[in-house]
Amino acid sequence: MSNIKKVLVVGGGIGGQSVAIGLKKAGFAVDVVEILSEFNVYGVGIIQQANALRALDAIGVADEVMRRGSPYGKVKLCLPHGVQIGEAGTPPIGRFPSHNGISRRILHDVLFEEAQKIGLKYRMGVTVESIDNHPDIANVTFTDGTTDSYDIVIAADGVYSKVRKLIFGEFKPNYVGLSVWRYPFKRPAGLDTGYIFFNKKHKIGVIPMTVESCYIFLNSAEGDNPMIPEDQLVEKLKGYMSAYPVPVVQELIPQVTDAKLVNYRALETLKMPAPWYKNRVVVLGDAAHTTIPQLGSGAALAIEDAVVLIEELQKEGEVEAIFERYMKRRYERCMMVVDVSETLGAWELLEYNDQPLPEGANMGMLMGKTGMALTAPI
Ligand SMILES: Cc1cc2nc3c(=O)[nH]c(=O)nc-3n(C[C@H](O)[C@H](O)[C@H](O)COP(=O)(O)OP(=O)(O)OC[C@H]3O[C@@H](n4cnc5c(N)ncnc54)[C@H](O)[C@@H]3O)c2cc1C
Repeated sequence: MSNIKKVLVVGGGIGGQSVAIGLKKAGFAVDVVEILSEFNVYGVGIIQQANALRALDAIGVADEVMRRGSPYGKVKLCLPHGVQIGEAGTPPIGRFPSHNGISRRILHDVLFEEAQKIGLKYRMGVTVESIDNHPDIANVTFTDGTTDSYDIVIAADGVYSKVRKLIFGEFKPNYVGLSVWRYPFKRPAGLDTGYIFFNKKHKIGVIPMTVESCYIFLNSAEGDNPMIPEDQLVEKLKGYMSAYPVPVVQELIPQVTDAKLVNYRALETLKMPAPWYKNRVVVLGDAAHTTIPQLGSGAALAIEDAVVLIEELQKEGEVEAIFERYMKRRYERCMMVVDVSETLGAWELLEYNDQPLPEGANMGMLMGKTGMALTAPI
């Protein structure tokens, strides 16, 4: 084992909790700081592909996540009336199904409960003020005025990472011209798997979350200024949904009533150039690679980052060699997901703007090929 013993994790999201849980179980002393004073995870769902479940299994929570979520097979790709034109998704890996839909809140709860069970303490409402990042130690000053020293600091503080900015400088996310709308629903009786319906102007996914609930995502192009006033959210979303005659969408439309439940956001990507480490600080998850959700795989990457880092930290070696091995195992795979997602997004944008697609462009095929690639061991 390396001589790393004491670790600070900055950020208590999916990646931060995953790495903190795994390291604590492996015997490291772990502190977690989370900038929010209270978690406020929104109530729509998240898709976990088989590779995400495999990674969650490595930190001991996959079974609970599947028990409290909704495992399903491949996603059916359909025309707006419901005629199926293909299917997509990561093939099953061992006992893990192609997909598990789950509420983000429930996923967060599973991780948080596991963290509490093993004695991890989170310092809520606190973050790093500064990091004195030496080759042999990181001396950290926190926003509550306290200080401490760590063998390593793991930046898991998301797309707008403060740690990344402090140590590596400014990298700005890139708006891709697309937006996503999400809304939670009571699950319709016939929803047997995940569905995506394609229209010329947008696409809608209907995804199981639990036995009783599901959510939709709807991708649209909102132009250069994607801000939409709250009082227009409900009507605009209902208008978009009405372009899908398929009964499973039609029966959800009357349930869209509360603007506060419409989770609307413009989509951004960010690719931090290698290396994702410097001296004693290392970056993971969205802080290093933010992908648009066209493959539903951003969180999967964050959890896989965590698993690989945990494995490498338990092996022999100097910190730089450990971080380099982590990079080597992660960089290409993460870039593949970000790049393919960007390509799928660019094709969608062309379609929504009535532009021709490049020759040979085939979304279903690209999604299938990438899903297959993600079954490779990490
Ligand atoms: C619309 C949309 C849909 C998506 N759907 C899917 C999907 O279906 N499947 C999938 O796998 N992925 C999906 N993703 C991607 C996924 O949500 C992210 O990749 C994942 O949340 C990244 O986890 P993270 O822990 O790296 O970052 P985050 O989830 O952003 O967590 C960062 C944490 O750090 C905290 N924080 C921020 N700043 C600081 C600070 N300075 N100090 C301390 N704490 C801080 C935040 O409060 C937060 O708790 C989707 C993303 C979007 C935008």
